[in-house]
Amino acid sequence: MGKKNQEDQLGKGLVFVISAPSGTGKTTLVRRVMEKLPCLRFSVSYTTRPPRAGEKEGVDYRFVSPDVFQEMVAKEQFLEWAEVLGHYYGTAWVDPKVLEIEGVDLILDIDTQGAKKAKEKLDHAILIFLLPPSIDSLKERLMGRGLDSAETIQFRLAHAKRDVGEAHWYHHIVINERIEEAVEKLKAIIIDERRKRDF
Ligand code: ADP
Ligand code: 5GP
Repeated sequence: MGKKNQEDQLGKGLVFVISAPSGTGKTTLVRRVMEKLPCLRFSVSYTTRPPRAGEKEGVDYRFVSPDVFQEMVAKEQFLEWAEVLGHYYGTAWVDPKVLEIEGVDLILDIDTQGAKKAKEKLDHAILIFLLPPSIDSLKERLMGRGLDSAETIQFRLAHAKRDVGEAHWYHHIVINERIEEAVEKLKAIIIDERRKRDF
């Protein structure tokens, strides 16, 4: 591997914030990109939402009670937190200098309210909005995922329309039509930002 390519593989203490309407494919995309690009760390959020089938404590989320969550809010233990679709979610504090020393970049999968707060607190954060190709395809993905009731899906779709209205203040927009193409686009954004850091 050439020197330039090796450098592209190294984390630079960057923080990538990814938002998308629920069901767009954020989790799938982030997992695939992390398999392909080294030195990326996923920021495991705290949530009061109950675990879904297959989700693991400390890997997908840290599942906590509303009381524990409120205590963490009171002790200012979050970089940002928000109520999303009826549950609380929060991101633990991060220090980009420590990430840089460790040679990793961090990925935050958070909603638009959280992204706004993260942007205020981490002025170098790179904001990426993931869009589904259409509202119909989003509905199909939510139904295909098989995790939500019809009522929850309607609720998520109503929120999706509001979320999409926030996409304009993100630095990058990626459309998740074919997953392989979206993976390549997200990878290219990350490599590009790592290269910018080298100048
Ligand atoms: P999110 O994390 O944004 O809520 P998920 O990653 O759980 O979304 O994806 C929702 C569903 O859509 C899953 O069943 C996933 O396999 C599927 N999916 C993800 N990306 C695509 C794609 N590009 N085309 C078709 N289905 C997809
Ligand atoms: P889900 O329950 O489907 O995993 O996530 C629902 C929404 O909460 C998604 O939009 C996801 O990005 C968002 N989310 C997950 N973790 C956090 C967090 O720590 N902070 C904020 N603000 N949103 C989060």
